[in-house]
Amino acid sequence: MSASTPGSSAGTAPENVVIIGSGPAAWTAAIYAARANLRPLVFEGEPVGTELPGGQLMLTTDIENFPGFPEPLSGPELMERMKAQAVHHGTRVVSELVKEVRLGERPFTVVPNYSEAVQAHTIIVATGAAAKWIGLPNEQRLATTGGGVSACAVCDGAMPFYRNKRLVVVGGGDTAMEETLYLTKFASEVVVVHRRDSFRASKVMAQRVLSHPKVRVIWNSRVTDVLGDDFITGVRLEDTVTGATSEFEVGGLFVAIGHTPNTRFLNGQLSTTEHGYVQVTPGRTATTVDGVFAAGDVIDDYYRQAITSAGTGCMAALEAERWLAHHGIEDSAATTEATNTETASAVAVSAT
Ligand code: FAD
Ligand code: NDP
Repeated sequence: MSASTPGSSAGTAPENVVIIGSGPAAWTAAIYAARANLRPLVFEGEPVGTELPGGQLMLTTDIENFPGFPEPLSGPELMERMKAQAVHHGTRVVSELVKEVRLGERPFTVVPNYSEAVQAHTIIVATGAAAKWIGLPNEQRLATTGGGVSACAVCDGAMPFYRNKRLVVVGGGDTAMEETLYLTKFASEVVVVHRRDSFRASKVMAQRVLSHPKVRVIWNSRVTDVLGDDFITGVRLEDTVTGATSEFEVGGLFVAIGHTPNTRFLNGQLSTTEHGYVQVTPGRTATTVDGVFAAGDVIDDYYRQAITSAGTGCMAALEAERWLAHHGIEDSAATTEATNTETASAVAVSAT
């Protein structure tokens, strides 16, 4: 970006609202902020491993539970459409990760990886969370091609190809217990593979799993390979005590070993919950720093859905708009500097 970029530290007017992230929360916030004529600036991130601009839905195939799409559409297509809608209404997009924010002084400063720092009256943090994976090459390959490997049972478990099959859940926490119980609705059997000899999950959840007639647990075991070319056919296991290996046939693998909220770039400037998620006022998106809002999976360790992320993205944009109005800065130069026609095509400093 050049020194004349609106809101840049060398420019004249700070941005009204900078949105950091690129999942359903970020694009929904951008659509609302753009339609309120706030000319939002989105930092959508860069590809890093399995983390892609567009967020977690870039890693999945059919989405069947986002309202408005009776025919399934792919995760990447849904994200492309959300971004296109945001850009259509005047959102500007920079294809870089934000490496740092400075929230100690107003206006705030947002520091991207390569281009110049940007100043902002308000910030919406919508950087999501990353599902943890075991880290096996075949796991990643089949997860990204719809080959029967998933990190979200509520999202994918009802797909026809999982029905009446033996499904494996990896993990021993409450997420793994919830995913297991959910999958019992569709599977012929759910096998929980856990690396130790006891669950970390709460007693009540663990008990529900252990007493379920469709559930079997394989203790002291870890998955060392995922078998199958286009679709999973089995998993290879290693006994963590004896080192013995075995294989068994499965029709689906659900990895449920936790999530990591993407908050590192905040450097502790926003309070977080005990699980590391950004803390917001209950029922709102206001964080512990006035003028900074947060939405989507980065605040949510409970629902973790595209539609709930979009919902809190909407809330964050409305709260940012009201914050600006309350502080009398809705007519900032950044708002009026360019028309929507200009901005619709003015997209993306690409990092690559
Ligand atoms: P995310 O989707 O997590 O995206 C945030 C993005 O922000 C990151 O990917 C990254 O590109 C960007 N970012 C991160 N840090 C920075 C930074 N410092 N600077 C700039 N950008 C940054 N939900 C459903 O409702 N239906 C489904 O069918 C479904 N299927 C799923 C399948 C899988 C395999 C997974 C893992 C999840 C699935 N989910 C599904 C859950 C859904 O994907 C998430 O709830 C949703 O994507 C969360 O949206 P979000 O906007 O909070 O952020
Ligand atoms: P947790 O960190 O609690 O559990 C993760 C589980 O995955 C652990 O059993 C861990 O094993 C296992 N694990 C981690 N890494 C690997 C790996 N590489 N290979 C194999 N296994 C691995 O995460 P959760 O997402 O389950 O829960 C997070 C928090 O959210 C918890 O506090 C939980 O109580 C809460 N939560 C509550 C729910 C509810 O109340 N309904 C629902 C979901 C979550 P090990 O035990 O050996 O470390």
